[in-house]
Amino acid sequence: MTQTNSSPAAVTDLDFDPYWMPFTHNRYFKQHRPLDRLMASAKGAYYTTVEGQQLFDGLSGLWCCGLGHGDPRITEAVKRQLDVADYVPAFQISSPATFKLAQRIAEQAPGQLNRVFFTNSGSEGVDTALKIALAYHRLRGEASRTRFIGREKAYHGVGFGGISVGGMVANRKMFAPAMLSGVDHLPHTHNPAETAFSRGLPSWGAHLADELERIVALHDASTIAAVIVEPMQGSVGVIPPPQGYLKRLREICSKHGILLIFDEVITGFGRMGSWFGAQAFDVTPDLLVFAKGVNNGTVPMGGVIADQSIYDTFMQGPAHAVELFHGYTYSGHPLAVAAAHATLDILAQDEVPQRFAELGKLLEDGVHSLRGEPNVIDIRNCVGAAAIDLTPLPGQPGLRAVRLFEDALKRGFLVRFTADTIALGPPVISTPTEIHALIEALRASIRAVA
Ligand code: PMP
Repeated sequence: MTQTNSSPAAVTDLDFDPYWMPFTHNRYFKQHRPLDRLMASAKGAYYTTVEGQQLFDGLSGLWCCGLGHGDPRITEAVKRQLDVADYVPAFQISSPATFKLAQRIAEQAPGQLNRVFFTNSGSEGVDTALKIALAYHRLRGEASRTRFIGREKAYHGVGFGGISVGGMVANRKMFAPAMLSGVDHLPHTHNPAETAFSRGLPSWGAHLADELERIVALHDASTIAAVIVEPMQGSVGVIPPPQGYLKRLREICSKHGILLIFDEVITGFGRMGSWFGAQAFDVTPDLLVFAKGVNNGTVPMGGVIADQSIYDTFMQGPAHAVELFHGYTYSGHPLAVAAAHATLDILAQDEVPQRFAELGKLLEDGVHSLRGEPNVIDIRNCVGAAAIDLTPLPGQPGLRAVRLFEDALKRGFLVRFTADTIALGPPVISTPTEIHALIEALRASIRAVA
């Protein structure tokens, strides 16, 4: 049988070369073969490396395992499902559990967001939402509405749609010629001169939403299909929305017949202290993209929740015709659906959104206690998410954060870095002692890389 065990012995002669790692410095990884970055198992709030070291999971996987790892209620549901049906086609066929899941997600979403399309990832969710927006306007006789407005510093996954509306430069520049045309970007809202070290939502910056009026005036509303934003920008390093900003975007979109898309891949399913960021920030979009937390990262799943009026528009087309020519072989995969049902049970039974709100207070106090440590130039937090900005090393942007990441690993804490920002999003099961230990480890690491 093929050797797949993860003991140190099994990795001694492991060939690192064939695996092309995503979003990873492959040459560094393969040269250094860092065994403290090879995970053997995951349980609760911890990974165990192949060397047997325990690592506190300071980012809930990649923001996806908010309930911690290996909750038996999810694990058992997936195992049971494997015995019942491994796969059911997604086109023209489905299973009752998939319909039921759509209903349960719709019940938690605000307003008339009650029609659910399943994908396998956030990237696919974003591209699906963009396509729905285009087709919706076309069906309503407004085929000229083809432009999308994204935002600087946004991350919307890696599909061509997602990188086009996204605003993380590194993700775009290598592929620029092939991106969607007719995309414009709102300015980002991160301005340390005005908002450095603010707690929660900054009081400065709502006026930046008015830039949308300028863009609308430039291109004319009749050419714009949708605006897409993450309610809280996550991947770039936790940029909470300024107070009133999202409401203003909502007003401007409604005034001009432009759809508002929230990319809630990180903010959905509890981390913002509500089921969705839409409720936390009290703004309802027309389309809401989700992934990650929907089934605690157990089996790939994403999707789009559409306002009923959008869905109804599609249903008014010719009878007997497929309404939306779009979908994935694994849309609503039975294992993902089973994991999602178990996750939704836990979210409700264990009052996960409320508990994230409580965890968020500890995280806020903890992370802001790092103010004044060497090279810390900004700290931000938004309920279950937080970030620390460091002064870059001269001429070597990003390197200080890499060093910090490595130092924190040695102390038994896994965090995430992006440029010179350290991001935190611990699982909801973290105890106050663990949050305290995480912060103190970071304090020590910040000093160590000074
Ligand atoms: N949108 C947002 C806001 C995300 O944070 C991410 C992933 N971090 C994505 C989209 C892409 O999701 P995936 O990696 O599942 O394609």
